[in-house]
Amino acid sequence: MKIPFVDFSESYRMIREEVDRGMHAVFEKGDFILGEAARKFEADFARYCGVEYGVGVNSGTDALYLALSALDVGPGDEVVLPTFTFIATALCVSYTGATPVFADVEPCTYNLDPASLEKAVTDRTKVILPVHIYGQAADMEEIRSFARSRGIKVVEDACQAHGASYHDRRVGSLGDVACFSFYPTKGLGAAGDAGIVVTDDTDVYERLLMLRDYGRKGRYDHKIKGFNSRLDTLQAVVLAAKLPHLDEWNRMRARAAQTYRDLLCEVPEVGLPRVAPDRTHVYQTFAVRIPHRDAVCAALQDHGIGVLIHYPIPLHLQEAYTEMGWRPGSFPVAERLCGEVLSLPMFPHITETQIRTVCDRLKEALVGR
Ligand SMILES: *Cc1c(COP(=O)(O)O)cnc(C)c1O
Repeated sequence: MKIPFVDFSESYRMIREEVDRGMHAVFEKGDFILGEAARKFEADFARYCGVEYGVGVNSGTDALYLALSALDVGPGDEVVLPTFTFIATALCVSYTGATPVFADVEPCTYNLDPASLEKAVTDRTKVILPVHIYGQAADMEEIRSFARSRGIKVVEDACQAHGASYHDRRVGSLGDVACFSFYPTKGLGAAGDAGIVVTDDTDVYERLLMLRDYGRKGRYDHKIKGFNSRLDTLQAVVLAAKLPHLDEWNRMRARAAQTYRDLLCEVPEVGLPRVAPDRTHVYQTFAVRIPHRDAVCAALQDHGIGVLIHYPIPLHLQEAYTEMGWRPGSFPVAERLCGEVLSLPMFPHITETQIRTVCDRLKEALVGR
């Protein structure tokens, strides 16, 4: 039995009619750019997060880049971020001309370690950019109080954590600004690239409206050098159809995670993800830690089990950032994780039979080593 890493065909069946109807309405009206469905989705998603404003953009990467731009991050500034994340978290900083400053992560949640901030922060630090990795929030209370005492802004990279909560507040409402990706495989995914920035800050909101739309206020009245980065109305139709299902789909992911735990808890080589008591995990990614990871990964792929590695190389050791001169050993927790993590198939409608097969093959691969 082949098992895909993700399979959203069942999720699609639940929204198909609404998507068809919504798409049809957009074609009839012709409001493809910043149309009614896009405006409504921005407001609905902001409300879902528990904040005032949402600004839809082209991608999660653009959401991050425009959010930093709206906070006036630029050359000479530094932005502190975890080295254990997807590269877009650092690229958006580089696009602004600022310097990404890497920091290590916690060994239990894999999120930015608040204890690493003291060393990473300087007089030039303008923003701390924690990532809610795999679907579990970073320790935002610690990070925020550290940042507040130094006049530093906090931007959430929430691209993997739609609907996750921390102290009963949703991700998206935990920093000054938060950025989400709607890349198709994310917890809330469009039918192509899309993203959103959410915030309670009226000034940031107004700048974002200009930044994503050629810097304009009126039709041909351009106040700043903005970009063309808008959420397509057609993508908003897909997202609006999915949003009411998001909490249920996250509960289904959590049930699947529990099944994995039940089946793997007695396998001593397998390190299971840990969830801090004050948080809910939405399992965008269900990653285990195992010895001989590369051999086990290859064996599972040979048996048709869709597994992936998030991520094999920490950002400070990526070729794209060699100019910064980081050496192996700089961030030991992240480096160790990169050698051990393996992401197992995870999607809302994964069946218990599929999970059993994954676990059986994983146990065989561990023994076969
Ligand atoms: C997916 C992702 C991004 C980038 O989002 P795109 O929509 O693919 O541009 C940024 N940060 C993290 C942590 C991500 O997982």
